[in-house]
Amino acid sequence: MTTRTRIAPSPTGFAHVGTAYAALFNFAFARHEDGQFILRLEDTDVKRHVPGAEEALYEGLSWLGLSWDEGPDRGGPHAPYRQSERLKLYQEKAQKLTKSGLAYEQEGAVFFKCQRRDVGWDDLVRGEITFPQDSEQLKDFVILKSDGYPTYNFAVVVDDIEMEISHVIRAEEHISNTPRQLLLYEAFERNPPQFAHIPALRNPQRAKLSKRRDPVDLRFYRDEGYLPEALVNFLCLLGWSHPEEKEIFSLEEFVKVFELSRVRKAGPVFDMQKLLWINGEYIRQLSVDELSSKLEAQSLKLRDIDDTYLNAIIPLVQERIKTLKEFDELAGFFFEEPVLDKGLFGNEAIMYLDAALKVIRESEWQLENLQKSMLVAIKDNNFKTGDFFMSVRVALTGSRITPPIVESIIILGKEKTQKRIQAALELLK
Ligand code: GLU
Repeated sequence: MTTRTRIAPSPTGFAHVGTAYAALFNFAFARHEDGQFILRLEDTDVKRHVPGAEEALYEGLSWLGLSWDEGPDRGGPHAPYRQSERLKLYQEKAQKLTKSGLAYEQEGAVFFKCQRRDVGWDDLVRGEITFPQDSEQLKDFVILKSDGYPTYNFAVVVDDIEMEISHVIRAEEHISNTPRQLLLYEAFERNPPQFAHIPALRNPQRAKLSKRRDPVDLRFYRDEGYLPEALVNFLCLLGWSHPEEKEIFSLEEFVKVFELSRVRKAGPVFDMQKLLWINGEYIRQLSVDELSSKLEAQSLKLRDIDDTYLNAIIPLVQERIKTLKEFDELAGFFFEEPVLDKGLFGNEAIMYLDAALKVIRESEWQLENLQKSMLVAIKDNNFKTGDFFMSVRVALTGSRITPPIVESIIILGKEKTQKRIQAALELLK
């Protein structure tokens, strides 16, 4: 039997990082087994329909490189299933159960008749789970509402049967739905898929990630300048660990080594600091050209910048940034006049800047030369080296934290450097 997994998100407006997490594990499991990974849209809740939501999902998953397959009965490249197109199927299946006495109609809705017995399964992440027969979950329940729409538990089983899903890998919040679904499989005389309930992601306060409190929209991560490869790598490490304890590895490698048995039950913490660290690692692995094109894709204003200029700046900054956005913060002064804050200058700034201006006017425009001339001026005048360079740094960049300053000066050019120092002197005098 072909391994076939799926995610079944409801298109509610944006691509949720939890959906990406479930997609990643489903994708890896299916690809590892040479199987298929299917995307199905649970869009039967018409009231909650949000325009553009489907596109946001496709965009988010594609951004992460989590490609999905066509289903067995579906034509066209990457056509997802859409439950709203399948209402007739659910109605027929509900009728079938009613005819065979396994369901009944009441006030226009169709109810499934639950058998009174314990229901359990061997969960691939959590082991044996059993719901005793008197559980709330094992009372008769609605499968088709009076408006002709299926309930989640019914549609999900009909779809998973039709789509020949072999493994249901989904969030732990669905554990309590599983006994009802198992009874439905039995009613349809089908073997159920294997279930694996993966842990819910938690914020550092250990609460489940929430739309109101935590950044859960994938677009947030894109806009903040996270690389999709880094975010995927980070998600891999949530509730799962590499057999060799590696922290940095590709999606391809994840697919190769992924096993559900390494997924832990405990809810993993979505630790932004760790994500930042991983993202920094990925940024450092890029060539100058690769980083340059990612920066241009991220920031509109960088697209108009001369490539040679941008490529000269990148090596100064690459080691120091953890997101693409931090490039703007650290290197913005290369592209825009800095806004100067008098308070950032020390007491002796005027003296230092006067001396620096002189060196800059007279020095040959070459790194070692400029460095040497500055050190000579510092020595001749008995300046404090750190204070001297800090004054120059603040005058040129508006900030006390910057890439190496003499290197930056060389790239910035003689003219701009002089102008900025003059502007700082005017402000201070
Ligand atoms: N729409 C459900 C969700 O996104 C699907 C659950 C399932 O995979 O069965 O949580």
